Amino acid sequence: MIKYIDELREDELKDKKVLLRTDFDVPFVNGRIQEDFRIKAQKETIDYLIGLGAKVVMVAHISAIDSFEELVPQLRIILGREFGFIKKLEQLGQLEQLGQLILLDNIRQDSREEKNNEGFAQELSEGFDIYVNNAFAVSHRNHASVSAVTKKLPAYGGLLIKKEIAGLSRAIDCPAEGKILVLGGAKISTKMPVIANFFDKAEKILVGGAIANNFFKVLGIDVGSSLVDNNVSVNIKSEKVILPEDILIADKKTNEMEDGASSLKNVKEGYFIADIGPKSVQKFCEIIKGAKMVIWNGPMGYAEIEKFSHATHMIAKAVADSEAESIVGGGDTVALVRELNIMDKFSYVSTGGGAMLEFLTGNKLPGLEVLGYYN
Ligand code: ADP
Ligand code: MG
Repeated sequence: MIKYIDELREDELKDKKVLLRTDFDVPFVNGRIQEDFRIKAQKETIDYLIGLGAKVVMVAHISAIDSFEELVPQLRIILGREFGFIKKLEQLGQLEQLGQLILLDNIRQDSREEKNNEGFAQELSEGFDIYVNNAFAVSHRNHASVSAVTKKLPAYGGLLIKKEIAGLSRAIDCPAEGKILVLGGAKISTKMPVIANFFDKAEKILVGGAIANNFFKVLGIDVGSSLVDNNVSVNIKSEKVILPEDILIADKKTNEMEDGASSLKNVKEGYFIADIGPKSVQKFCEIIKGAKMVIWNGPMGYAEIEKFSHATHMIAKAVADSEAESIVGGGDTVALVRELNIMDKFSYVSTGGGAMLEFLTGNKLPGLEVLGYYN
């Protein structure tokens, strides 16, 4: 059984030193954070622990940079809190003199983190009373600050972990009748297993984005220079899987559209399928409108280019406007939802990308397993 921090008594947190695994792995450009959803999702747990008098050291990673230093002022604003910043693990030895809330620099600076090294976990946990994992989006990783550390300290789930498990379990467990899975995007190897798991858990599975190209190939359609993963085999025997019936084709080099939307056809070399067409959008939107539950991950097309973003925007709005319960997730998908300013119209927005897909696949997440979630 997983134990969450809100099950701890006040005296189990007051003046206790808490090692908190947070998640600040957000996109940024030229030192500016572009998307703060994941950071904000940490706030509730931080506030809860501090409010009960715990002394908290936050541990996090950002994959794209070495040090957090230049992001610290922005993190303070987003979290609405002052906190101390320490660059080296050794400084944790002076825990007594440090303030109530501290951030340790990028945990992945130490190569032992990703190796789930026991010695590193020991060094990390020195001087702490408890460990709390609140980084759902890294819980599919067997890393020292997610996994090995739980052998060194009493380990608990944070409030975000609790919400993610509740939200995503609902996606899996609610009745198949009226449940629609909408999948798009590019990483087909991570998405096919989700489709497989939902074959008998959903009423319909709508497939768009580059992952549809794999299905087109099985139908014998030449997808030209479209984005496609040749190592993944797909199964479309089930009539539950609804594929796009029209597509937008564009020049791979110039992104110029070939001509208007066309029905499914062979695509010439040098051209690629850039988006699903208006008939498909209409069909998908109608299905979404009549749903009881919609789970959506992945853009319908090459949405970074405005002219190939329309289908995705229409689908996003259809999910947001429908009466259905809605669960959405994925880095690119959430960024799009944020841009459209409709985040609050979804029943649950997951902070997980890979972790969410693993959860929806039905796989055990190592970071949740060590907290006792599967026992
Ligand atoms: P998420 O992060 O929401 O899980 P993915 O990372 O799987 O989504 O996929 C998002 C990416 O997929 C975007 O960069 C988008 O441009 C790309 N994409 C979707 N459809 C196509 C397509 N038809 N051709 C090229 N890229 C596509
Ligand atoms: Mg992505």
